[in-house]
Amino acid sequence: MLFSQNVPGIRPPDRRVLRAFAFDPMTSRLSGQFLSINIPFEHDLEPGPNGDLVQVVDYDATRDCWYQPIDLDDPPVLAQQGLRPSESDPRSHQQIVYAVSMSVIERFQRFTGRRFRWRGDERLRLVPHAFYGRNAYFDPKRRAVFFGYYRADETDTEANLPRQLMFTCLSIDIIAHEVTHAIVHRVRPLFTIATNRDVFAYHEAFADLVAMFHHFLFRDIVETAVAGARSELGDATALLSLAHEFGKSTGRGGPLRSFVGSEPDPELFRRTKEPHQRGAKLHDAPDATRSAARVRPRPGREWPARRASRHGAGAGSGTGPRRRAARAGCPAACGSRVGRPSGSARRRARSRACGPGR
Ligand SMILES: [Zn+2]
Repeated sequence: MLFSQNVPGIRPPDRRVLRAFAFDPMTSRLSGQFLSINIPFEHDLEPGPNGDLVQVVDYDATRDCWYQPIDLDDPPVLAQQGLRPSESDPRSHQQIVYAVSMSVIERFQRFTGRRFRWRGDERLRLVPHAFYGRNAYFDPKRRAVFFGYYRADETDTEANLPRQLMFTCLSIDIIAHEVTHAIVHRVRPLFTIATNRDVFAYHEAFADLVAMFHHFLFRDIVETAVAGARSELGDATALLSLAHEFGKSTGRGGPLRSFVGSEPDPELFRRTKEPHQRGAKLHDAPDATRSAARVRPRPGREWPARRASRHGAGAGSGTGPRRRAARAGCPAACGSRVGRPSGSARRRARSRACGPGR
């Protein structure tokens, strides 16, 4: 039998699906679920993975060794949506940091409506096993995200074994948080200069919010969490908190950060200077905004003028959306002036290393 040569070509795929833990190995162990992360299919992807926007470089500086890079275009890998997530296979770790990073970058592209690029031909380097330590951080100078690994505490590790080896690169929350730092730095490079105490706090808050909203990308996980919470979204802690495994395995007794379960404390916003704690006040903003949106001025009346000082004790008193927001700790009510950075601020910015453990 003769086949006609005049057949249409087969179009290459547009999307690639890769598996990851949901949302880290511990929560996957408890829920029995994995994530399927749907990302753009890069046709010239090299082993690493090494693509147009991100490059996974798996060098362990503590052990001074390289791990074999994964080839996501290898037919056995390609045919089963990447490797099955495994804590013992470094190639699976490379796959997860690549997939989550590409997913976060694609969200930015969709919501800003334009293609995202690093400067020139640069790419963001991701180092999944960079060092031994309870931290992960974005380094603006080297344009790289470094993920640490560490031993779990000996007690109260929940679904983890005492002294078990833990990897920050397997938490999609930590990956999303750090990659968001890199994206914000690309868009606003001067935000690495602490001209006032809210600059780093904004960095942290925005990175946390992106990591949290990234959860809602996974329909199966959202449905399971909401059903488990009997439709009370406030009880769906899996969705509204970050880095469960990191928090539990480092003796915090809960997730690293939570968006529910704590009463807003406007006084804390005045007391604390630590960027993560200060940025956590912005977590209340979506809830405060939602509350404010429910309130309308009476017909024919305007909102009363805001008389209380921005930082004064009266900032949270009275009624109206701004004051409600201030009472809930919304940093939108705090507008410190941005001036020329001092020498010490520049030095602090240069030595800054942000990470979930800090
Ligand atoms: Zn951070």
